[in-house]
Amino acid sequence: MISSQLQIASYLFASILFILSLGGLSSQESAKKGVFYGILGMLIAVVSTVLGEGVEGYTYILAAIAVASIIGIMLARKVEMTSMPELVAILHSFVGLAAVLVGFGSYLDPITQTLTGSEHVIHLVEIFIGVFIGSITFTGSVVAWGKLRGTIRSKALVYPGRHIVNLSLLIACIVLCVLFIGAAGITGMNWLYIMTAIACFIGIMLVMAIGGADMPVVVSMLNSYSGWAAAAAGFMLGNDLLIVTGALVGSSGAILSIIMCKAMNRSFWSVIFGGFGTGPTGKVAEVEGEVTAVNHAEVAELLKNSKNIVIVPGYGMAVAKAQFPVFEMVNKLKDKGKEVRFAIHPVAGRLPGHMNVLLAEANVPYDIVLEMDEINADLPDTDTVLVIGANDIVNPGAVDDENSPIYGMPVIEVWNAKNVIVMKRTMATGYAGVQNPLFFKDNTEMLYGDAKDSVNKINALL
Ligand code: NDP
Repeated sequence: MISSQLQIASYLFASILFILSLGGLSSQESAKKGVFYGILGMLIAVVSTVLGEGVEGYTYILAAIAVASIIGIMLARKVEMTSMPELVAILHSFVGLAAVLVGFGSYLDPITQTLTGSEHVIHLVEIFIGVFIGSITFTGSVVAWGKLRGTIRSKALVYPGRHIVNLSLLIACIVLCVLFIGAAGITGMNWLYIMTAIACFIGIMLVMAIGGADMPVVVSMLNSYSGWAAAAAGFMLGNDLLIVTGALVGSSGAILSIIMCKAMNRSFWSVIFGGFGTGPTGKVAEVEGEVTAVNHAEVAELLKNSKNIVIVPGYGMAVAKAQFPVFEMVNKLKDKGKEVRFAIHPVAGRLPGHMNVLLAEANVPYDIVLEMDEINADLPDTDTVLVIGANDIVNPGAVDDENSPIYGMPVIEVWNAKNVIVMKRTMATGYAGVQNPLFFKDNTEMLYGDAKDSVNKINALL
């Protein structure tokens, strides 16, 4: 058992560690340190909370920690890099569900009933808001999980009048809040249940209304919601550290969502409200031209004859786990005196920073990894671009087809280079489900097959 002063000091220390963790995570060089600070902060937070004054039922707490730790370790060890986004989404849903359950528990707690006057009202409002945010986060994250797994279609589910429906539901929740506050004893539980059902429905509809290519914003937005849900749980439990941690996650998630929106040239509000405003109404332009296929020997020859090469990795590189042979190829080409650089799109893969993580895993030096904005101007002077398992992020339709669902999203303009090789298995579309006119351009050739297999074959020829 620790004194409340020691607990406050530990909470303060843990908060500082969380801030250092976020700071560390903002650059690849310091990311590992950032993760370490986060783990240490969380360890201190959990231990000082469990050992706090008035905590009872250690057997249950330890049993819950043991079971959850085993599940967590097993999941984390088993999960593939390609499934990381799904794991993140489902973990967000747990935070939401936890906030809902804390809200129910807090309302039924006899201590709540002993509160009077404004203190009672404020606590009830905390509970109501906490359960509301938690429910939206819970169901929204489950739908995001399904969309990222491919179990739920990634296409936006929009129906006429959906904004009116959502607004009416929101107003209904406000009315329920008033009824909840006015209810005697614990009879308000019924209002809480009805609001939970409505908020769960809102969560489902909000994420269902967001289409394929806008999913990255949903992931970061749900990250933000999970933070606010945790902060709300902190208010309900009167736990300062949970409020601070929740606010840190909530605000950093919101900032990330805004950054992702800027990267995709989408309005933050239009994504949040599921395609508010006008979307494309006409038909996507018919793709003209012919697709040319090449073999590995031809690609190896092209690379040998190129002075500068840009590699654009995408989700397919993650699926194929091709990052290791790709780095081997980079080294072989560098030994031959070529300039080789990577171009990273902010929404490549299925998670913000997905490609950076893969390249770091393969020990690719950071100085040859460039952002989309840094590389686009250099592409007209580039001899060869290798597109490895990427599709939507190199789609020219985003620039010149107003009817494309991804119109307006900045992309890596690979078609401006002299030669483009696209490595993928088939002519299938990417996550957004739109055909890619790049494959039909005169300077573009397709190298079909699994990315890892193709790169290995090219390496052998180099
Ligand atoms: P895409 O999903 O657009 O395309 C990936 C391509 O990889 C597919 O067309 C597929 O073609 C190919 N592929 C799959 N497996 C292999 C393999 N083993 N070997 C070679 N190729 C393979 O990915 P991008 O990275 O270009 O774009 C990301 C998309 O995901 C964007 O639409 C983005 O909005 C969305 N998204 C991004 C998130 C993020 O946070 N980054 C989160 C959620 C969605 P084929 O089957 O023919 O091989």
